[in-house]
Amino acid sequence: MSAKTLVMTPREDPWEMALRQFNIAADYLPLKRGIREFLAYPKRELTVNFPVKMDDGSVRIFTGYRVHHSTVLGPTKGGIRYHPDVTLNEVRALAMWMSWKCAVVGLPYGGAKGGVVVNPKELSRDELEHLTRRYTTEIILLIGPDLDIPAPDLGTDEQVMAWMMDTYSMTQGKSVPGVVTGKPLIVGGSAGRREATGRGLVYTLYQAAHRLGQELRGRKVVVQGFGNVGSVAARLLWRDDAVIAGISDVKGGIWNPHGIDIRQLEAHIAEAGGVGGFPGADPVSNAELLETACDILIPAAVGGQIREDNADRIKATIVAEGANGPTTPEADVILRDRGVTVIPDIVANAGGVVVSYFEWVQGLQYYFWRESEIVSRLQEVMTRAFNRVWALGAKEGTDLRTAALMEGIRRVAEGFRVRGLYP
Ligand code: NAD
Repeated sequence: MSAKTLVMTPREDPWEMALRQFNIAADYLPLKRGIREFLAYPKRELTVNFPVKMDDGSVRIFTGYRVHHSTVLGPTKGGIRYHPDVTLNEVRALAMWMSWKCAVVGLPYGGAKGGVVVNPKELSRDELEHLTRRYTTEIILLIGPDLDIPAPDLGTDEQVMAWMMDTYSMTQGKSVPGVVTGKPLIVGGSAGRREATGRGLVYTLYQAAHRLGQELRGRKVVVQGFGNVGSVAARLLWRDDAVIAGISDVKGGIWNPHGIDIRQLEAHIAEAGGVGGFPGADPVSNAELLETACDILIPAAVGGQIREDNADRIKATIVAEGANGPTTPEADVILRDRGVTVIPDIVANAGGVVVSYFEWVQGLQYYFWRESEIVSRLQEVMTRAFNRVWALGAKEGTDLRTAALMEGIRRVAEGFRVRGLYP
């Protein structure tokens, strides 16, 4: 793999996208060539092919990955994704983004990511548990409470984290809560972790609206993806009197310009299993939803949603990226030229890793904080990070993504400089 070749052939491959974003931001920084190249490579990558016994007695082979992008600022941190489209390049990109994300919000972590090529919805609970325990064992040499700390991501949840924590603990002969974050409360999870990413995103939206002289109340909001991130962001904004006009999940979306009642929608999802068929809203496709007339667009599902071919039809004036990598670099240019403010993923969705950090610290100390304490510390960290990025963007004349990446890359480079080159 050559960083240079990948940069020269732009496609919508997440790793190429991450490298192009890296290069755009790195061009603003006085980085020595060796350091710049060092930062463009993942530190280590593990691919595992492993067997899982299925309910019918058959054995299926699954492929999984764990990538550590950087260990300069501390142990690595990053989610585990269960999705049929997981690739090594996607995991690489997500690991790199985690490095910049942790650095930009000031956490003592490097970036990592993991994933398994699987549709978890097609597995029974037993199969999911077997897959999780075997995958954890396969990557066990890379994880640990002071080495690399996984967390939930697309397709994984608290239960998956509990199985991972238990599997790791069994190999150590003791409970090791600090090996994963996003665990259930009863085994060392943190109050406020489930809501953290959506809540953090809403804090950055408030800051952006304030800077732009706008109010969120009464603004029309569209949310793509109604999982952990999208549902919490939608609920908090709805509670604050924003008009949630459109929402989607993997099967499609719903649209009502007068607003969707989130409590009623949640009751509908509990019965129907998805947003589709919600009474009082019109069906709309995921692609159409992105282009509907709204003020704020929150992509909170998968990457590569806002691209060169649809960016000029996005009506929102603020895009807050709940998902990782939802906007391609080409689309970034189009949105910037059209005056759309994009709150980049590495800032907008950093609330999850911030409260994961709180959970890790609490687990290491066996001392747990009140939810109100967590929420106020989260708000403080998110607001400070957003304002630093906003000020840097204004100073350098860049968009917020470039400013955020500059700040993240600069910090990792500075860590590398002061640590020096071994041996
Ligand atoms: P989730 O699995 O809880 O929910 C994902 C949602 O997106 C579901 O509603 C699903 O139906 C929908 N979806 C899936 N594929 C889709 C598609 N192709 N088009 C439209 N909708 C689709 O996942 P999550 O934890 O909410 O994560 C969502 C995004 O946020 C991911 O990109 C993830 O990397 C990112 N993220 C999550 C966290 C976190 O703490 N959970 C933190 C940072 C970033």
